[in-house]
Amino acid sequence: MRRSTLLGLAGFLLTGAAFAQTPNDYASLTSRFDAAINPTEIGGWLKLMAAEPNHVSSPHNKANADWILKQFRDFGWDAHIETYQVLYPTPVSEALDIPNLNGKPWSAALQEKPIPGDSSATAKDYALPAYLAFQGDGDVTAPLVYVNYGNVDDYKRLEQLGISVKGKIVITRYGQGWRGLKVKLAQDHGAVGALIYSDPADDGYSVDAVYPDGPMRPPQGFQRGSVADMTIYPGDPLTPGVGAKANAKRLTREQSPSLLKIPALPISYGDAQVLLGAMDGVVAPDNWRGHLGITYRVTGNVPVHLAVKSEWSLKTIYDVIATLKGSQYPDQWVVRGNHHDGWVFGASDPLSGQSALLAEAKALGQLVKSGWKPKRTIVYTSWDAEEPMLLGSTEWAEDHADELKKKAILYINSDGNGRGILGVGGSEDLEKFVSDTLAGLTDPETGQSVDARRRARLRMAGPMADEHARAMGRQAADPSRNMPLEPLGSGSDYSAYLQHLGLATLDYGYGGEGRSSGVYHSRYDTYEHHSKFVDPGFVYDALLAKTVGRAPISPRPLANMSAK
Ligand SMILES: [Zn+2]
Repeated sequence: MRRSTLLGLAGFLLTGAAFAQTPNDYASLTSRFDAAINPTEIGGWLKLMAAEPNHVSSPHNKANADWILKQFRDFGWDAHIETYQVLYPTPVSEALDIPNLNGKPWSAALQEKPIPGDSSATAKDYALPAYLAFQGDGDVTAPLVYVNYGNVDDYKRLEQLGISVKGKIVITRYGQGWRGLKVKLAQDHGAVGALIYSDPADDGYSVDAVYPDGPMRPPQGFQRGSVADMTIYPGDPLTPGVGAKANAKRLTREQSPSLLKIPALPISYGDAQVLLGAMDGVVAPDNWRGHLGITYRVTGNVPVHLAVKSEWSLKTIYDVIATLKGSQYPDQWVVRGNHHDGWVFGASDPLSGQSALLAEAKALGQLVKSGWKPKRTIVYTSWDAEEPMLLGSTEWAEDHADELKKKAILYINSDGNGRGILGVGGSEDLEKFVSDTLAGLTDPETGQSVDARRRARLRMAGPMADEHARAMGRQAADPSRNMPLEPLGSGSDYSAYLQHLGLATLDYGYGGEGRSSGVYHSRYDTYEHHSKFVDPGFVYDALLAKTVGRAPISPRPLANMSAK
């Protein structure tokens, strides 16, 4: 049975996630905790974990899981790895070409070339090429239709223009909506294939200089990702609702509703320029035009060939689970997670958050070694296979659903992190708890309090913002009121805990002043890019560790409540 967030929360607030006896203890605990967080060490861990490609089923991603396990044990935690067998297709072959472009054949570059001085040039292992996991394999040839961002309103506009995508290959740009929906809508409207590119207007040269001179996406960079129909259910497409153990009952691929049917690829804006530039039909509406040096058109006559073939066997994934047992309420769990798999190196997404999580684990381990005892059990997790479809976190939640429903009182998530202002999402009932744990946290660059910076940003929601954002702004403007929290949707590992188990959930991350968007899910999300453009000195990754670590050592008053 689904337990309501409210019920979980009532227990949480009454008993607190508290482990300290008095506020004085808390002050001493937090200062000892903070003293154990070392930005240089965090940077070293990040460099080590991001040295080679870390996609699901890659050797380095597995080596990272083993290394993370060893770290937890060295820090004094009881830790183990749990494995699941999930459907995760990997590309075998792919092609995108124009057989005859002005008398010559042309083909797209479906790998990003290495950049000297960057991990993309020094790594030895295989990097995934352009790829959209859970697209449908196929081999098609058809003219293109440009559909802007490829969302519902864009198809309405297309209909007004009297243009159909039936039998055509759709080309759409990233932004203004979930990537999977772009391919799904193309499929639903009868397209036979789909291409998604990143327009320089959105995350390329129109924003800032491109990598390696600046942080933004270079002409050859592209955004990998999942296009599974996540709105149906996250997790393994073949085992909805149950843990994907070896002996689990499985759907066939044909039965799975979350897999798409048409071939699809992400491409660079360098290649998009050629494809869009070869179109010769109807000129695109004003607000459909990006910043490439071409006339944007909706239709064209040049046939384009798109072929994708994947290998669809089950792959083993590795979740690291580490525990510090509670001394007083061992059957009340505070669960904390971040994923460790990436699309390529994954330095910003997710290893910046993973490194912060390790720093917390080390600091908590040191507190335990110095005599501190958590009253409740703390469970730290390092998820595998978040990128394809929240696989590691969802399968663990499904596998342990009964126990989690009885014991878990809070799930705390993080993912990629960077320079900037605190983002924290969760249910309204957790506002008091979050407000309390922000006390004493200071921004490393400005010296302002984390609380003040976040309130200032929320207050900037202007008249054009939606009503909810303006309400948050009004609440943030009143220092006597609790810190407002963003409502949580989906898109990271908290999904199964919030939406399936109904747990009280928080999601933390700093950002907005670093520049990770230009390398998001590309081969250039590297240690070099992160340390230069996203979090120089790793001070915000360290701040994330201090911020999240406040929760398990929080001073919320203990009530005389036994385990639920
Ligand atoms: Zn991530």
